Amino acid sequence: MNARIHLSAPDMSGTEERYLVNALRSGWVAPVGPDLDAFEVEIARRCGTAYAVGVSSGTAALHLALLALGVGPGQVVVVPTLTFAATANAVVYTGAEPVFVDCEPDTGNVDAGLVERAVAELRRDGRHVGAVVPVDLFGACADNRRLEALDVPLLEDAAEALGASRDGRPAGSFGRAAALSFNGNKIITTSGGGMLVTGDAALADRCRYLATQARQPVPHYEHVDVGYNYRLSNLLAAVGRAQLSRLDGMLARRRQLRERYAKTFAGVPGVRIVGESDHGSNCWLTVIAVEDRDAGWRAADLGAHLARHDIETRPVWKPMHRQPVYRGARAWLTGAADRLFATGLALPSGSQLTDAARQRVFDAIDEFL
Ligand SMILES: *Cc1c(COP(=O)(O)O)cnc(C)c1O
Repeated sequence: MNARIHLSAPDMSGTEERYLVNALRSGWVAPVGPDLDAFEVEIARRCGTAYAVGVSSGTAALHLALLALGVGPGQVVVVPTLTFAATANAVVYTGAEPVFVDCEPDTGNVDAGLVERAVAELRRDGRHVGAVVPVDLFGACADNRRLEALDVPLLEDAAEALGASRDGRPAGSFGRAAALSFNGNKIITTSGGGMLVTGDAALADRCRYLATQARQPVPHYEHVDVGYNYRLSNLLAAVGRAQLSRLDGMLARRRQLRERYAKTFAGVPGVRIVGESDHGSNCWLTVIAVEDRDAGWRAADLGAHLARHDIETRPVWKPMHRQPVYRGARAWLTGAADRLFATGLALPSGSQLTDAARQRVFDAIDEFL
């Protein structure tokens, strides 16, 4: 009996086990310790930033960064409509209001020109735009350099993008700060975790302080702010360090898989790989878009076929402006995100997939085609 093939499962080895056991034996089981310190230094180096703060999730990193940028009630924050809900939810946690902007049809990344228009129109209406939060979708950087030129604080949601780059700069290095995720399905994982990266020492300090219950440095626990319990544990940081030491190999395997998908679908009418032209992508997820009129089948048909082979696929994120929880939020739309939602399918992309598992996926796709 073949095991189920997942979209992006954790890629663990003896290295993670060794790092974790060493951390456990070291006695640093509290949410601070040498592995957390080292993991922060190593991630900052990889992202080309001076500072990093390890936290309990990517969502927590987004939340803290928004707070540190001064985002709060009465403000609006510009978020792509095509993203995971965490990007918008973090805005709501601060008391600010998310507004949504549509994406580029080719990549699914936020349409930078439309962001510029949204910011201009919001200001014309007297709104305070607290931040713009582009998402590096499926592991390919958005046009962050162009968005940096806006005079609005930029927070890069790089949750999916560790190891990616654009314009010669690593994901995580854009804007005032960036958020990374080490959730179980991400490019590297600590089972759950995240990191805030930034070149701004004061911003990093503020986030570290807010992440540790906003404790003043006195023995009797003095508080002048409401803080959060958001720190990453030293044990999980040890797993993260092991994962990071293997990142390049994992990126290479995801890229190989992407290239094999590209070859498989080349010449299949109506099918393209979303963001295929972006060679700086970390290939976190390979997503195809299927125009049914040209293909003669729908993305969901391939999804159903693969499901019968116990192979997981998933539609593209349902756009935020379509989510009941964000009904009524202001949005700048072109129809591109709706189109990707209707036509997109994310395919198994994990670096842990064995050669035999990959072969099963491609045999099943060949059979369908
Ligand atoms: C995964 C993800 C997050 C949230 O990260 P968690 O670690 O799961 O909290 C935020 N934004 C995007 C785009 C993501 O894919």
